[in-house]
Amino acid sequence: METLINRQEHVVTEMIDGMVALYPGLARLADYSIVLSSDAGIVADEQVALISGGGSGHEPAHAGYVGGGMLSAAVAGEVFTSPSPDAVLAAITAVAGKRGVLLIVKNYTGDRLNFGLAAEMARAQHIPVETVLVADDAALAENQERLARRGIAGTVLVHKIAGAAAAEGRSLAEVAGLARAIAEDVTTMGVSLSAGTAPAVGKPSFLLGENEIELGLGIHGEPGVKRTALRPADELVDTLLSTILSAHPLGTGERVAVLVNNLGATTVMELAIIGRRTFSRLQSQGFIVERMYAGTFLSALDTAGISLSVLPVDEERLRLLDAPTSAPAWPSAPAQRRSECKLVPVSNPVCERTDLPAGSMLADTRLTTSIRNACKALISAENYLTELDLHTGDGDLGVNMARAARKIESELAGYGAQSPPDILKRIGWTLQRVLGGSSGPLYGVFFIRAGAAIETAKAKEPMAYVDACLAGCQAISELGGASAGDRTMLDALLPFAQTLRSRLAAGVRFERAIADALGAAGRGAESTAQMLPRRGRSSYLGDRVVGYSDPGAMAAAIWLRAALEWLSPGA
Ligand code: ADP
Ligand code: MG
Repeated sequence: METLINRQEHVVTEMIDGMVALYPGLARLADYSIVLSSDAGIVADEQVALISGGGSGHEPAHAGYVGGGMLSAAVAGEVFTSPSPDAVLAAITAVAGKRGVLLIVKNYTGDRLNFGLAAEMARAQHIPVETVLVADDAALAENQERLARRGIAGTVLVHKIAGAAAAEGRSLAEVAGLARAIAEDVTTMGVSLSAGTAPAVGKPSFLLGENEIELGLGIHGEPGVKRTALRPADELVDTLLSTILSAHPLGTGERVAVLVNNLGATTVMELAIIGRRTFSRLQSQGFIVERMYAGTFLSALDTAGISLSVLPVDEERLRLLDAPTSAPAWPSAPAQRRSECKLVPVSNPVCERTDLPAGSMLADTRLTTSIRNACKALISAENYLTELDLHTGDGDLGVNMARAARKIESELAGYGAQSPPDILKRIGWTLQRVLGGSSGPLYGVFFIRAGAAIETAKAKEPMAYVDACLAGCQAISELGGASAGDRTMLDALLPFAQTLRSRLAAGVRFERAIADALGAAGRGAESTAQMLPRRGRSSYLGDRVVGYSDPGAMAAAIWLRAALEWLSPGA
């Protein structure tokens, strides 16, 4: 596994130096892997000092939670290794004032022993020290008592709430009592798709098959309680929540705060997908989701996976969660009650027109038949266009075209009462909305301009349509800057329209002229294989695309043929 480090034995000290360099509110205690809040000395006699810590590899825990309103100090051990009692004691003596110190300890034997002995040593020096043990992991809840469980991401909520209470100047007994109540109430469960890799080991701590996941993992690369098959995100969320809620049952109507925690290598997109289901599931079960936080709060190196933590809250807990903090890793977006968020509905003047009489006869069955045929052809060509776009672009053209074609098909019945120009414009509106990519706006402008051109056309059909097609091509050029020969859809559309125009002008029979124009579109599209791309995504590939036809041009040739070939039988 490749990582951006210097020497594996320096990762922790270099990380601590980096945190201090990045965040001016943090300071390092000389000779120790300890991060202090730079104002810890100033506030020492005014508030209880909070200390957390443990092995490294859980970033941004724990140093990221150091700051006013959260921790006074964080003690970092080596990766996944508890710090020594001596280091914890150094942190205690550095930040302790008259009000005393609260140690927040995650429930692992090593941390309990090292922090416990440090507390004992500090008390021997007459420093008032209390300890709170966090054991929020619901995965082990079924057959073990709370104190046999691990401490995981819920710890961050203990940091926040106890930190805010300490900053209000409350006594050690009060802050410790509140921290214990939060630790008692917060429940967490995780799932991982791949294990993290410790720098000293260089390979993942366990291996999972392609479609396997570990449910209920710890944060030190230990496997979970159960290995199962990968399931859709929603199902996993449901499993995690039901385990959490059976480990710590809550009454309906209860208010909760939720932490969606990235274990290291999960994308922001996945976090949001998880957050979406977590919110709706809790809501549908009758809970009031007062706060949701999503991000990397307590990770396990580069583990791919997440954990969910649920904490019942009341007014006081919410106030402490919302209290400001300068700790860099706490999300600083201002909390807002959901009921206060106003949604502004958007309406679209063209697409939401409701004045179409339902079920009326189609205005022009030829036009709608052509549209239906074009859609069918694009749907059948999906794989072919995907393949082509993979060679020359990003591979989305087939899916996009097929999706747009299905949408137009579904709207066809509603086109009935409209005039051809309105139908074309409406297709343009639909395409700009659902097609996507570069093709979306380009086809959008093509059909909107073509519709407008027919509206004001002086020429009769079919020449009016030919001119409309040329006007649409002109609009594509104006919007995208391409002209003939630039290896784009224009290299099919333009030969089509130009050939049709010249054939009709020369008095060639309509059926024959259509057949000739379709032939020109096909040849034009194929000739793009020898053109150098000057517009669109292909232009980044330069001559690497030569030999493959332009997918946009091929798509245009395909839908043109399907739309019109049936009008020139036998030609
Ligand atoms: P993207 O590259 O954004 O994924 P699409 O996959 O939707 O775009 O469409 C790719 C096709 O769009 C290309 O094959 C080309 O025919 C066409 N295209 C790209 N840029 C232009 C442009 N500026 N003018 C006309 N057509 C273009
Ligand atoms: Mg594409």
